[in-house]
Amino acid sequence: MTPANAMQTRRALKQFWRTTGDLLFPPVCVHCAGLVEEGGLRHVCAKCAPLLFIVQPPCCQICGHPFFGDVHGERWCVHCVELDPMFREGRTCVLLKGPGRALIHALKYHRALHVLEDIAALVRSTPGIVDYLRGAVLVPVPLHPRKERERGYNQSRLLAATFAAAAGPGTRVAEPIRRVIDTPTQTALDRRTRQENLKNAFALRKGADVNSAERYVLIDDVFTTGSTLNACASVLRRAGGVSVDVVTFGHG
Ligand SMILES: [Zn+2]
Ligand SMILES: [Zn+2]
Repeated sequence: MTPANAMQTRRALKQFWRTTGDLLFPPVCVHCAGLVEEGGLRHVCAKCAPLLFIVQPPCCQICGHPFFGDVHGERWCVHCVELDPMFREGRTCVLLKGPGRALIHALKYHRALHVLEDIAALVRSTPGIVDYLRGAVLVPVPLHPRKERERGYNQSRLLAATFAAAAGPGTRVAEPIRRVIDTPTQTALDRRTRQENLKNAFALRKGADVNSAERYVLIDDVFTTGSTLNACASVLRRAGGVSVDVVTFGHG
């Protein structure tokens, strides 16, 4: 097959899968359930797309939350002042409101893995994220095996693969951490209780290799208090990781 033919075949296959995918998952907006026209994102309609809050600098150095209004050299937001981060820096792509929240919910709770296509597009359009990820070892926050069996997948692993693909060659995914304690859902707990629950929730995977010369970027769906990411960063640091950063898709 000539290169031109191969390209044509790839295009035709892509179109085929796209059409088949549309039959299986009609292009319905995750936020308003309206139909999505051809053009922009595949699962957020043109009416809802402007409601996506893509993060722009200046941002908190630790969680990536944008600073609004007048900024006078602040580097940490009010939420991060008490965190005592075990990682160096954090970035995030969208704020968890409207369609941004709907995309994460679709991925996490409704098995809507097809939204990863839109998430990839949003990662690419968030200023600075792709450059920030490039060349790093992306480490998804692990789920406890029982939770992963229930859900059928780990959304953070899917996000890490999506982020690595967006960042291109030189960026890879590794999973040196495992979750050893299935902590109860943390959303309703205060920071201190979360930290206490998470203290021993993660451990280094047997035989995992953490290299002090690599840059590690922990990947999670959402930054909330940072406690989970902090617990994972501690594991990498204790294993000899020197450069540990954080990127989440959303901040809520
Ligand atoms: Zn919509
Ligand atoms: Zn912050």
